[in-house]
Amino acid sequence: MELVLLMENYRTPSAEMRDLGPKGHGSFATQFIPRGTVIATFGGTASTQHGLRRYPAERVSRSIQVETDLFFVGPVKREPGDSINHSCEPNCGMRNATQVAAMRDIQIGEELTFDYAMSDMAAYDEFECSCGAPLCRRRVTCLDWKSPTLQAKYEGFFSPYIEREINAVRLARPLKKNEVERLMSAYDTDPIGALTSALRVVTGHHRAPWEHLASLLPMKVRKKLLDGETSALDLLAAELNETRTVSRD
Ligand SMILES: [Zn+2]
Repeated sequence: MELVLLMENYRTPSAEMRDLGPKGHGSFATQFIPRGTVIATFGGTASTQHGLRRYPAERVSRSIQVETDLFFVGPVKREPGDSINHSCEPNCGMRNATQVAAMRDIQIGEELTFDYAMSDMAAYDEFECSCGAPLCRRRVTCLDWKSPTLQAKYEGFFSPYIEREINAVRLARPLKKNEVERLMSAYDTDPIGALTSALRVVTGHHRAPWEHLASLLPMKVRKKLLDGETSALDLLAAELNETRTVSRD
């Protein structure tokens, strides 16, 4: 009879889970794993950040952030794929939002790890780190992806939504004089269109739709916009004008 296992996560058969006592569980290579091999793929139950409060903390600690406001919550019971630990000196990285791949060749007996800075941008799983690496940052936070050192070290191994944020920070720039003039002249007839163009420039999110750009705005402006208050558009236009440095071409 064929044994069917219903799993929400995948972990390479070239590794085994080991009990690490007070440090939880870890996955260790039982065979040589060549660089580039996918060692885990995460599934789980989709949730917004707000929705995470419905789940027990232990399950949330086995979750992964896959988009700005989307998480895959770990399965009810721990699966082998849930036991890929964080390390500040990892041997694996994100291939995409849900897959972890070997960043280098991994020898038998090595623990499979990735750096949570590669996948997490929300403060749902911050902790004191005891990975033991010489370069351990001691505390792992949701802002670690902003570190230029880590950005250089993990280039090509960030989750796509974080890579998008990193690129946006690089591309963001103040509006030029002619762009402010265009914004002001188009604002009366097409305020959303005008502000979309302006926000794409100042945030660096060049392909983002209006909804995403609005989500990057200060809460007081966003709330008014979502409530359909036209005064929010005036507030925003004023903010772009007053608080951003306007450079001359
Ligand atoms: Zn560490």
